[in-house]
Amino acid sequence: MTAKLLDGKALAAQLQEELTERVSDFAMNNGVTPTLAAVLVGENPASEVYVRNKRAACERVGIASQLHRLPRDASEELLLSLVARLNRDEAVHGILVQLPLPGAIDAARVLDGVHPSKDVDCFHPENVGRLSQGRPTFLPCTPHGVQHLLFRSGIPVAGKRVVVVGRSDIVGKPLAMLWMQKDSTCGPTAANATVTVCHSQSENLAEICRQADVLVAAIGKARFIKADMIRPGAVVVDVGMNRTAEGLCGDVDFENVRMVASAITPVPGGVGPLTVTMLLYNTLKAAQMLSLA
Ligand code: NAP
Repeated sequence: MTAKLLDGKALAAQLQEELTERVSDFAMNNGVTPTLAAVLVGENPASEVYVRNKRAACERVGIASQLHRLPRDASEELLLSLVARLNRDEAVHGILVQLPLPGAIDAARVLDGVHPSKDVDCFHPENVGRLSQGRPTFLPCTPHGVQHLLFRSGIPVAGKRVVVVGRSDIVGKPLAMLWMQKDSTCGPTAANATVTVCHSQSENLAEICRQADVLVAAIGKARFIKADMIRPGAVVVDVGMNRTAEGLCGDVDFENVRMVASAITPVPGGVGPLTVTMLLYNTLKAAQMLSLA
């Protein structure tokens, strides 16, 4: 068997085309251009690329973007005051603080400072709480992107056994939260999956992975998930983005796993482009909410 490729790049292009029309309608009806403010502290090369990609995507769909740069040695107080200023600015609808922040800054304190109505990354405790209760304001970008990719590829998760390897606040935990919900208030699919979350302390990891109908790898270790951890015919979603000497690669041993799985996301060109697209969704939603307030 050779797995079907789940082409996130192509789907992201299609979703962005659909969004362009919605952004244009919104701007015309409200006289307001949805605007995302990105905050970048220091000169982390990966963060520079991520922010550049996000701003380029904004431009493609007609969302305005601002870039606010602070030097690497900027104080936490300075960053908090910038975030507070962006919270007050009515022309800004979404605020994105690019992670990681320099070690001297308490990232949780900064992310908690973003007003929940502008928290387009869905990191604020209020938004995470709403998500867990199945009444989200925003959906977290990467999990929402994964959902879209499976939904538009005709792969249902309802009733299926999903194994998520990784329990980060950004990917693993919120994805598990989305997929264990009872109905479709949290995304395009009725969720209802049976979700298992694994991490570095999980015993019998390979055995648990082999039970998955859908396996999601969000670990941050190049080619960690091997073919013998996959049940033949399973769907494999690789969230990992690891920079190696041979270039960017995922958490899944792609060349071998694709011979066992029924469908698989490539890296690059899988989940990444959808993460960016979902940020655009959230920025439009933030602008819509403000126009109704
Ligand atoms: P993270 O915060 O470092 O979390 C990694 C998770 O993997 C942790 O829960 C960790 O367990 C678990 N883990 C580590 N080693 C393990 C092992 N040997 N066995 C089982 N679990 C193990 O990472 P993240 O932010 O979720 O990101 C994960 C990957 O996704 C990274 O490569 C990142 O670059 C990528 N990413 C991609 C996108 C995208 O749009 N494509 C978005 C976000 C992140 P513990 O909790 O026990 O430490």
